[in-house]
Amino acid sequence: MFKKFFSIMIVGFFLFAGLFVPASADAAKERSVQLRILETTDLHVHLANYDYYQTKEDNNVGLVKTATLIKQARNEVKNSLLFDNGDSLQGNPLGDYVAKVKGLKEGEVHPVIRAFNHLGYDAITIGNHEFNYGLDFLRQALKGAKMPVVNANVVDAGKGTPYFEPYTIFNKKVEDGQGRTQVIKVGVIGLVPPQIMEWDKGNLEGKVKVNSIVETAKKYIPEMKKKGADVIVALAHMGITADPYQPGMENAAYYLTQIEGINAILTGHSHNVFPGPLYAEIPNTNMNKGTINGKPVVMAGSFGSHLGVIDLELEKKSGKWEVVDGKSSVRPIVDAQGNSVATDEELMKEIEPEHVATIKYVNQPIGQTNAPIHSYFALVKDDPSVQIVNNAQLDYLMEKLKDPSYSKYAGDPVLSAAAPFKAGGRGGPDYYTDIPAGTLAIKNVADLYLYPNTLQAVLVTGGQLKEWLEMSAGQFNQIDPSKTGEQQLINPNFRSYNFDVIDGVQYQMDVTKPAKYDTSGKVVNAGASRIVNLTYQGKPVTADQRFIVATNNYRASSTTFPGVSQGEVILQSPDENRQIITNYIQVNKTINPTADENWRMSPITGSAVTVFDSSPKAQKYTQQYQNIMYIGPSSGGFAKYKLDLTK
Ligand code: MN
Ligand code: MG
Repeated sequence: MFKKFFSIMIVGFFLFAGLFVPASADAAKERSVQLRILETTDLHVHLANYDYYQTKEDNNVGLVKTATLIKQARNEVKNSLLFDNGDSLQGNPLGDYVAKVKGLKEGEVHPVIRAFNHLGYDAITIGNHEFNYGLDFLRQALKGAKMPVVNANVVDAGKGTPYFEPYTIFNKKVEDGQGRTQVIKVGVIGLVPPQIMEWDKGNLEGKVKVNSIVETAKKYIPEMKKKGADVIVALAHMGITADPYQPGMENAAYYLTQIEGINAILTGHSHNVFPGPLYAEIPNTNMNKGTINGKPVVMAGSFGSHLGVIDLELEKKSGKWEVVDGKSSVRPIVDAQGNSVATDEELMKEIEPEHVATIKYVNQPIGQTNAPIHSYFALVKDDPSVQIVNNAQLDYLMEKLKDPSYSKYAGDPVLSAAAPFKAGGRGGPDYYTDIPAGTLAIKNVADLYLYPNTLQAVLVTGGQLKEWLEMSAGQFNQIDPSKTGEQQLINPNFRSYNFDVIDGVQYQMDVTKPAKYDTSGKVVNAGASRIVNLTYQGKPVTADQRFIVATNNYRASSTTFPGVSQGEVILQSPDENRQIITNYIQVNKTINPTADENWRMSPITGSAVTVFDSSPKAQKYTQQYQNIMYIGPSSGGFAKYKLDLTK
C-alpha cells in the first residue's frame, strides 16, 4: 500500500519535473528485471593456472582464475546465468592425457565437465575442437554434464535429425527491481562452424553433417519463441567478421545479430576479445555498450583469460517479458598492472587428480637434443622447431610410401610442410617454444606440436606447390626498399599456423612484392609473386612437376588454402603428427635440431630497416644469427628485433 502510494508520488513528481529527470526510466527500473549472462569460451582444457609444456605455474590462464571473476560477477547482481561457449575439451596436455592416455571409463566424469558442474553452469555448447578426439569420446565426455549441452546445426548424416539437443528452454527464477520473484523463460541455442566437416573429416564423414549457422538459427528461433522463450541466448562458437554473408560461412556472428528474437550473442573461436579494438571496423558497432546492430555481443578471449559479461534489462510489456536493453563487457583475470586474480582453491581441488597425473605424464623422457629448440625466430628464418616436425613427417611418409599400394607414386619427390604453432602474436610474448638442450620429454613434443592433427599426404603439381608457398608468404607485410626508418615485417593478422614451411625444396621470399593472397586465401594481387628461386635438387620447379607433400588433416582437407586445396589427398594416416615426432625422437635417441636453411628472405637493396617482435627471452639466441639484432622493448611485453636483409 505504502509502496504504491509512494510510487504514485514519484511518478507525479517526475511528471512535474518533466524534462529534467528521466522519470519514466527510473520507475520502469523498479518493475524491470536485470539479468546478467556470463561467458567462458575456448578454455581448451585450461582448468589449472598451469603451463604443462614448461611444467610451471602460469597465472595468465586457467578456469581456477576465471572462477573467481565468476563468483564476483554473480555476487554483484541478483540474477545471473553462466554459459560455456565451446572448445573446452581439447587444447593442452591435460586434454590429451584424459582422451588418449587415461581414457574415460563408464561413469567417470571428464575434469572439464566436473569443473562446469562444480561451478553450476546453466548450459554449454560444443566448439569445433570438441570433435578432435572423435564422436565416441565426445559423447562419453558429455555424459557427465549436469547442464544442457546444446548444438543446433550438427545433424545425423543419414536422417538429418539433430545430433545434439539443438536448444534448451528453462525457467529462471529472478528477482525484479522491487524484490519480487519473477519467472523468465530462457532459451539457449548452440552453433558451430560447418567447417568442422573439413577439419575433422576423418572423425565426422558419414556420421554427421553440419547445416549453415544463420539458416539454422532462423529455423529454430521462431520455434523457441513459440515455445515461450522470453530471452534467447546464442552460444555461437564462432568469430565476428563483416565479410559479406555466405551460407556456410565460418564466422557468422555478425549475421546472428540481425536475426529477430536473439537477444544476446556469446562468441569465441577466434580467441579474441569483444568489445575490443580489434573489432573497431565492424559496422553498426557500439564499442562502449558492446553491441553490434544494437545486440549485446561478447567474446571472452581464450584459456580462461577473460570472463564475458552481458547485462540485459527486461520489462514486462502486455504480459510478456521483453529485453529492452543490453550491454556487454569483458573482465580480464590479469589487470593492467599485471596482477592476477586469486585462484579458486576449491575448484583446483576438484581437478587435482588429473592435474597431477598430467604433470607426471608430460615429464616422461623420450630422448635427447644436443641443442636448444626454440621458435623465437620461426617467422623470419628457417627454424629448428619446424625442421624437426618436417624431418619426422618426411621419415614417416617415406616409410609409408614403400607400401606397394603407392607404387604409382614411385619417383615422385616427397616433401614435408609444417608451420610454427607457437610464434607469439595474439598468444603474447610468452607464446613460444623454448626447449633447452638435454632430455626431451613428452611435454616438449606437445609444445612443438600443439594440435592432435593426423598426418596426411597431398599430391600437388609444381604450380600448386608455388601457390601453397605464396599463401604462406602472406605472413609478411610489404616492405618498401626505398623507405628509411623501421618497417614491421610480420603481418599480425596472419595466423602463424598458416605459415607453412615446405622442406625438400629450396626457395626465397621477396617481401618487397605485395602478397598474392589475403589472410583467408583470397587473391588480392593476381600478378604478384613473392616466392622466387623455387628449386628442387638445384633445378627450377616446373608448373607440371609432381610432388607428394606430408602435412596434417587440417591443411589437407582445406578447401580454401591456395595450392593445397587443388591437390589430391593420397594418404590419410591414423597417426597423429605428434606421435610421429615422438617416435622419431625415440628411434633416433639423440636429435640435432639444426635448420637446413632451405628457405630465406630475399636480400633487399636499399635503406629498408625491417623489424619484428619476439619475446625478450629471444635475446639469448641472437648471437647465433648474423643478421638478427635486439633493438629494445616493444609493446605488450614483446621485444623488438631487427632482421637485416640489406646486401
Ligand atoms: Mn578455440
Ligand atoms: Mg628447413
